[in-house]
Amino acid sequence: MGVQEEEEEEVCGAVKRRKVAAAAADVTMDLDILDCPVCFHPLRPPIFQCTVGHTICSSCHDKLLDMCHFCSLPMVYNRCHMVEHIVEAIKVACSNGNHGCTARMTYYQREDHEKGCPHAPCYCPLTDCGFSGPTTTLLEHFSSDHEWHSTKVAYKKPYTIRVQVGSTVLVGEDGHMFVVNMVMEPLGGVISICCAQPHISGSKFRCRLKLSHAEPSYSQVTEFLVRSSNMHGGLPKDIVPFIVPKLLLSDTGASAMAKVGVALGLTLTRQ
Ligand SMILES: [Zn+2]
Ligand SMILES: [Zn+2]
Ligand SMILES: [Zn+2]
Ligand SMILES: [Zn+2]
Repeated sequence: MGVQEEEEEEVCGAVKRRKVAAAAADVTMDLDILDCPVCFHPLRPPIFQCTVGHTICSSCHDKLLDMCHFCSLPMVYNRCHMVEHIVEAIKVACSNGNHGCTARMTYYQREDHEKGCPHAPCYCPLTDCGFSGPTTTLLEHFSSDHEWHSTKVAYKKPYTIRVQVGSTVLVGEDGHMFVVNMVMEPLGGVISICCAQPHISGSKFRCRLKLSHAEPSYSQVTEFLVRSSNMHGGLPKDIVPFIVPKLLLSDTGASAMAKVGVALGLTLTRQ
């Protein structure tokens, strides 16, 4: 049930009843009507309407130059204060509410908020899984539901890690989480590393991978910027892979494919 509070206000001797806070839980509305019908972006003040009443956003107004898109006639546009009041009055919840965000904002501010929302989740990269949550919850999910091994690492320090077919997780000293993945391809093991981050930002980490092999003698060192991703829809495809020739992969188990792996020297550096 919504709670309504009313206050009375004197306006030119007349009493105007004004609802100051209507938390109307029983009101539903199709939010599409708050989108500009020309560019489909949310309407935000200033909003304009033709003399017939078709509303458009201010950037479409600047482009249409007094020609209404719907009436196809030269028109005089005016500010539409009523629709401006409506878009300011309607508050929507952040779509990360189920991840703990309690922010409410106008419909047109929602996209900007969600781009930087501190509660935005990362996703399990296994496409048939569908799990999402903050990185700490995701780490728990990886180990309990997928039995992915995780290793804590300090930055700027060389480690030897064993990478096997499938995924493993590195947790940095500041809590950043990295998914190291290897898939088998005809020429060898293809390794990728991605930093789980809810918002796409410039890469903060460099990774140095080193493969040394005595017999046959082989060594390979690669340094690259670690790609960040919220892993929605899987691991990012545009990662430059580190390829380990098939000959150098070793099998630590009896015959299980999942045990095929390689020991690599790894150093992560925060930029
Ligand atoms: Zn528009
Ligand atoms: Zn019109
Ligand atoms: Zn939010
Ligand atoms: Zn999962």
